[in-house]
This record gives sequence, structure tokens and C-alpha cells, in this order.
Amino acid sequence: MSAFRCPECGFTYDEEQGNPREGFPPGTGWSAVPDDWPCPDCGVESKPDFEPAA
Ligand SMILES: [Zn+2]
Repeated sequence: MSAFRCPECGFTYDEEQGNPREGFPPGTGWSAVPDDWPCPDCGVESKPDFEPAA
């Protein structure tokens, strides 16, 4: 499982945890997240802007 980070605010999407508030249950892979999904914290960046997080 991987995690992806918003370069604007630092919000991290973790595939293992998903984001139930946004409709992604735990274990939802990053590939299943729509490309037009905006960052839920800042709303500035969207999925293609996210960077892999260590
Ligand atoms: Zn953000």
C-alpha cells in the first residue's frame, strides 16, 4: 500500500486507510480515485498534483 501527498497543504491519502469521509473505504487504491478528485483539505490541488509520500 502507498500514500500520496498534496504538495499544497500536506494532506496525505493513504491507500490502507482510504478516506471514508470522501467515499473511499479503507483499502481503496490510488488508481480508483478519480483524476478530478480535489484535495479535501485545501481544494486547490487535485489528484494529478499529488506526489508519492514515503
Ligand atoms: Zn491540499
